[in-house]
Amino acid sequence: MTELPDRRLLLVHAHPDDESINNGATMARYAAEGAHVTLVTCTLGERGEVIPPELAHLTGAALGQYRRQELAAAMAELGVRDVRLLGGAGRYSDSGMMGLPDNDDPGCFWQADVDEAAAHLVEVIREVRPQVLVTYDDDGGYGHPDHIQAHRVAMRAAELSAEAGAPVAKVYWNRVPRPVVEEAFARLHDDLPGLPFTKAAAVDDVPGVVAEERVTTVVDGTAHAAAKAAAMRAHATQVTVAEPYFVLSNELAQPILATEYYELVRGERGPGERETDLFAGVEETS
Ligand SMILES: [Zn+2]
Repeated sequence: MTELPDRRLLLVHAHPDDESINNGATMARYAAEGAHVTLVTCTLGERGEVIPPELAHLTGAALGQYRRQELAAAMAELGVRDVRLLGGAGRYSDSGMMGLPDNDDPGCFWQADVDEAAAHLVEVIREVRPQVLVTYDDDGGYGHPDHIQAHRVAMRAAELSAEAGAPVAKVYWNRVPRPVVEEAFARLHDDLPGLPFTKAAAVDDVPGVVAEERVTTVVDGTAHAAAKAAAMRAHATQVTVAEPYFVLSNELAQPILATEYYELVRGERGPGERETDLFAGVEETS
């Protein structure tokens, strides 16, 4: 096996675009610093709503294939080369929004057996041996079934890997401190008249918003803000970008955060009041 870099980061996401929106700056920063960054995406987002009218004909499998190309383009912007689909392409499909009949499709990720899906992720962990795993909180950040399931699968895979004697040293959930989001939305409201967007989202539309005290770790990705915006722009079926803001298909403007925040939920916290590095305190072993 080829030798991997000393620092190895694994991110688990539900659909193409989630990685760039949540962790784009973090991924670009660690890739630029020479860490090995692995993204595992659980579905191709076949049920996503398409924004550009000229691409509106894309649905189902055709949309999934298109989004796979968008993902590849986004990862090129972030400098991330190790991108995988959980269980291989097409293994799990998008479950759609909570409460829709789509959730009952036997092939959808929401219907997946958690242990079976986690076994696919354990294989990746065994191969890459990441010290750091990043995923969503138990609500998936905002309640989407695929995000909740991605959380369950990631946490179960971490547990199984630990039981097998190959633990991931640190597990993080994506977070954003409420005061940071409030401030960013205040700026957005001031800027809105000059933007190509008409309405702003609400603070609680941002996934993972929590009280400041829950945030253990801040990753300053401001040097990689342009890469993050470019990666988001690559997901054109899902995201429209007007830096430093963006909209999803609901057309409600949100800030693009270049500093990204995390809550350490497994493993030992690094020194200092708040970590500024996901690998803080991790012994670098290969
Ligand atoms: Zn998603």
